[in-house]
Amino acid sequence: MRFCVFMGSRFGRLPAYREAAAELGRVMTARNIGVVYGGNVLGLMGVLAETAFALGNEVIGVIPHSIAEAESARTELTKLHVVDTMHERKALMSQLSDAFIALPGGLGTFEELFEVWTWAQLGIQAKPIGVLNVAGFYDRLLAFIRQVDAEGFISPEDHDLIVVADNPEELVERLLARVAARPPQVPGAPVADVI
Ligand code: AMP
Repeated sequence: MRFCVFMGSRFGRLPAYREAAAELGRVMTARNIGVVYGGNVLGLMGVLAETAFALGNEVIGVIPHSIAEAESARTELTKLHVVDTMHERKALMSQLSDAFIALPGGLGTFEELFEVWTWAQLGIQAKPIGVLNVAGFYDRLLAFIRQVDAEGFISPEDHDLIVVADNPEELVERLLARVAARPPQVPGAPVADVI
């Protein structure tokens, strides 16, 4: 079992963000859930990877050449996949994982969250998606999504594709329940590999 985690390449303003990244690393390790993430040492990404790896968890990084060469890919990992493009990277992150989690972050995190959410909406992938709403970080985004729903651009079902919790323990618990409830995959059926 592995969860792919999207999160800030910066630390953000509040200490609560780092604490949540570290706590998620501990909770995932305690539940024997491996980490798939962007492979860098930066910001919250580094905090989660370092915490989970130090506790003996599997931590897999997926990073494109361009970023690995320009910045500091983390070297202490179970495995670092260096790929050619951002698109390849996201497809591989998805293939390696059973669910997705978004922590607080910036544009990169939002793009990743919305991409897997869109894939779920289109039925291209059916893996559960969680949002860790640390200290109300996502409140306004979630309120906007409710408005988008009310304005008729998404359906309530699309809205319900994500699980929101304010602490890692509850989020992981609820995602595990969704993973367990997924129908077994039929060989040849369209899954994330088609992306
Ligand atoms: P951001 O939220 O803009 O800081 O972007 C962080 C998210 O985008 C992470 O989940 C990563 O997967 C990806 N990402 C953005 N910048 C980097 C980077 N320098 N190295 C690796 N991944 C990155």
